[in-house]
Amino acid sequence: MTLSEKDSQYLWHPYTQHKTSQTPIVISRGEGALLWDENNKVYIDAIASWWVNPFGHSNKFIADSIYKQLTTLEHVLFGGFTHEPAIKVAEKLMEILPKNQEKIFFSDNGSTAVEVAIKVALQYFFNKNEKRTKIIAFENAFHGDTFAAMAASGISFYTQAFQGMFIDVVRIPVPVKGKEQISFDALKNAIQNHNCAGFIFEPLVQGAAGMVMYEPEALAKLIRICKENQVLTIADEVMTGFGKTGKTFAMDYVSEEADMICLSKALTGGTIPMAITTFTKDIFDAFFDDDINKALFHGHTFTANPTGCAAALASIDLLQTSEMQQNIKRINASHLDFQKKIENHSKVITARTLGVIFAVEIKSDSEESYYGSMRTKLYNFFIENGVILRPVGNIVYILPPYIITDDQLQEVYKTIEEAIEMV
Ligand SMILES: *Cc1c(COP(=O)(O)O)cnc(C)c1O
Repeated sequence: MTLSEKDSQYLWHPYTQHKTSQTPIVISRGEGALLWDENNKVYIDAIASWWVNPFGHSNKFIADSIYKQLTTLEHVLFGGFTHEPAIKVAEKLMEILPKNQEKIFFSDNGSTAVEVAIKVALQYFFNKNEKRTKIIAFENAFHGDTFAAMAASGISFYTQAFQGMFIDVVRIPVPVKGKEQISFDALKNAIQNHNCAGFIFEPLVQGAAGMVMYEPEALAKLIRICKENQVLTIADEVMTGFGKTGKTFAMDYVSEEADMICLSKALTGGTIPMAITTFTKDIFDAFFDDDINKALFHGHTFTANPTGCAAALASIDLLQTSEMQQNIKRINASHLDFQKKIENHSKVITARTLGVIFAVEIKSDSEESYYGSMRTKLYNFFIENGVILRPVGNIVYILPPYIITDDQLQEVYKTIEEAIEMV
């Protein structure tokens, strides 16, 4: 049996209708921004393997750190024990996170980072004997696939089978240009009419919705409204974190600070699954008590895995090199040039750029669904041409590894231009 045949015999893939989907491509190795399949066909990974890989595939520097850690202390339970790699990650994050963040809690992936934040928001008020049981979230948000994260997510076909089984979420519009006031008013209404504990949002860019962007001033205003009403704010930086928006965190653009921040994806440079939720001292203090019942009874077996911590430390070191910061600026300038070039194309509705993130919306005769026919046509065209891009309906976005070369980036642009002509 070929690997593909064995795959279809044994494996169940994410977000996949196995009856109608194509067989997955077997990837056998990766280097830099490139991936090779089993037939040695090469692909440019223009979405950094779901936004996790800024420093390139099979990165030697991160791999060496992981190997060193694996052969020193691969894992130890984090209940009752601690270790230097976890402490170093915390120290490092304190240097680069918004100033009000003082405590960090480890978990395994973006969904669990969100799960922890939502549970903490709810228990914060429980510990203070105040009845606040609802969470506010944006329309079309994506916060992950575990239950509380799913409840906060607004992309309906991801969650439709579970309606009625969720914690209560009040949904408000995203403050995109022209809709700011509607969003502010909706937030005020939500707070007035419901007992809201927290507001969770993807700062400045909604990734899974198709790289929908909004301004830092609008987010600052929403956070201010929450602060005036003691509603806790949760910045889900799982996608935006570690340089994607051009600054270390999207919240670095925003004049108000969030109470909690969720991190994962690029945290370990795309090597080992790990996540972190960070908190203010005020939040930690609401759990700090002689009464054991006020503790946060949440944890995962692999919490603060030392190997993951070593990968995170190496990744943050790489992010902070001037070479990587130059790469981010270079990609941004290149995206802005490409945006200028195609935004007036007759088949383009609009194009947008922030940091290394670029998105273009393509005109379509019919309403384009998330996994609709245009999406399939585009996706297949990109794969045929050796470029990995996963359009969201009629939106094509690029989120490349920071080490992508200029030639590779031009190849990605050229393929997108050809795809626009083709559909
Ligand atoms: C990907 C993502 C998540 C979920 O992360 P997983 O690791 O897939 O569970 C949560 N929030 C945002 C903003 C994301 O982009």
